[in-house]
Amino acid sequence: MSYEAGHDARVQTADVSRELCIHALHVGDIIDWPTPALIHMRGFQEIRDIPLIMFVITGGPSPIVVDTGGASPAEVADVHGYTMRQSEQQRPEVVLSSLGIDPLDVRLVVNSHLHWDHSSNNHLFPNARIVVQESELAYALDPEQPHRKPYEQLGQREPRWQSGRDRFDIVRGDVQIAPGVRVIHLPGHSPGSQGVLVSTTSGRFLITGDCVGSYENWKGDDFVDHFPSGTFTSLPEYMSSFRRIEELDCTVIPSHDFEVVAEGIFT
Ligand SMILES: [Zn+2]
Repeated sequence: MSYEAGHDARVQTADVSRELCIHALHVGDIIDWPTPALIHMRGFQEIRDIPLIMFVITGGPSPIVVDTGGASPAEVADVHGYTMRQSEQQRPEVVLSSLGIDPLDVRLVVNSHLHWDHSSNNHLFPNARIVVQESELAYALDPEQPHRKPYEQLGQREPRWQSGRDRFDIVRGDVQIAPGVRVIHLPGHSPGSQGVLVSTTSGRFLITGDCVGSYENWKGDDFVDHFPSGTFTSLPEYMSSFRRIEELDCTVIPSHDFEVVAEGIFT
């Protein structure tokens, strides 16, 4: 599949779609996450629970899934050593069913990046193409040592994200992937991190991936306009991505914030 490339989303007036709706689906929590891992150089000695969120964009020709969550709590504990909480109702296939969505009907998935908590359930969507940035795939295949774990490059088993690799649609930069839906390259957290810009009747929303982990990250403080995540591959690129988001004139939807799951629907 090919997509229409174009760098400047500000001039894409044809993007506007009247029916699009973003659903934030709660697919589990990571327990006792150290705050500095979410918010760079802040909250030392603090821990907090953070939600895992799978987004679904409805209103177009077929549902679009943005990020597919983590594996089961047992597997996450085994591979990553994290405590994950997930009720039966929060399993991705169950929460999709509650929305009336059959995963077999999903034709398009976007991985904001290939860290385990955003890409572990690509296999649930066998009829979907999976949009990934070229630079993200390159890094996920051969990450620097400290980043091997989030990409599951541990030499034990095939990383979960690889299960859908034969269906990857590799893109470079900003690309329109459906009417009113555009991926925006936001490097920094990882080389090929990308957000998803969605035009609705009330304006434009940006599903940020881990470029913006929480509203607290985006809000900043007296010293920093926006806080990066504790994990990044380039701080200068990260700060440029924040400036890019500012220019997009959009409402930010962070990736790991309970306020997002409480809001539930953005339209
Ligand atoms: Zn990440």
